[in-house]
Amino acid sequence: MLRVLIIEDLPVNMLLMVAILERAGHQAIEAETAEAGIKLAREQLPDVILMDIQLPDMDGLAATRILKADPLLQAIPVIAVTAYAMKGDEDEVFEAGCDAYVTKPIRYKEFLAELEAVAARHPPSRPGALSDSAHTTLRRPPTDH
Ligand code: MN
Repeated sequence: MLRVLIIEDLPVNMLLMVAILERAGHQAIEAETAEAGIKLAREQLPDVILMDIQLPDMDGLAATRILKADPLLQAIPVIAVTAYAMKGDEDEVFEAGCDAYVTKPIRYKEFLAELEAVAARHPPSRPGALSDSAHTTLRRPPTDH
């Protein structure tokens, strides 16, 4: 079970991502603005953060830079959720510190597979986390990142 913070302002996208996560046995934490998301990240220390790029109060990449500059939060993987994926945009996403990205429209299997793969590459330090998953023991890569 992963605790996933979703920072997304569009209700239809939020509902879809929450439904996918909960159906797969994960827990969703919801934030509609970057400011609320950053606050919840600090309070809840989620396993993974899904970051919409276009948010009402702040660019999702700017919000990612804030998360990645915080020693408490920087190890938490951030997955950008973007409507576009041109080469320049991809570079921008990674330069901001995002660990991966998924493109809208959200497709159930791809979305879930990417989320779980990213989480497996970033095993949480929280004791007991992922205890019901084989990912951390079977799929942890040799390098730490
Ligand atoms: Mn948006």
